[in-house]
Amino acid sequence: MVAMVEPSGSEAPEPSGWALVRMLAREFVHEMRRPVPLSVRYLRCDGCGQVTPHRADQRLYSIRSQEREITAPPPEAVCDECGHAQLRTVGDEIPADVTVTCSGHRHRRIGSKRSRRACARDFAVPAAASSVVCPWCVTVQPGPGGPVNR
Ligand SMILES: [Zn+2]
Ligand SMILES: [Zn+2]
Repeated sequence: MVAMVEPSGSEAPEPSGWALVRMLAREFVHEMRRPVPLSVRYLRCDGCGQVTPHRADQRLYSIRSQEREITAPPPEAVCDECGHAQLRTVGDEIPADVTVTCSGHRHRRIGSKRSRRACARDFAVPAAASSVVCPWCVTVQPGPGGPVNR
């Protein structure tokens, strides 16, 4: 049987056409106003031996032309401090256990200059971190652990 189902209670039918475009535009504006903080991983670096932020992953694809195969090894995390890349392992991420207040400055909305107003956001980092990255304004700052070889 074919039932004419009235959408009960929901005044938001499946958006289509211009309604969908408007909805997406609204979500986009929402995203712009509330930027998502950067996710920064803290790992103990094999290169410099310090707990450092690792923002980048690198994956070294090796293509063997004879066998015509592409091997994709697990991603390597790249140290922000010394550029050393190391393989990710389970549980290698150092848990953030202290909260620091950002001493950096946010980027201005327009142009490349940084605002004179301090960022001053709180964010969690591992106590052993020698340097930290503010997830809100993405400035690198000395961490609570300090450099080991000072
Ligand atoms: Zn390093
Ligand atoms: Zn900041």
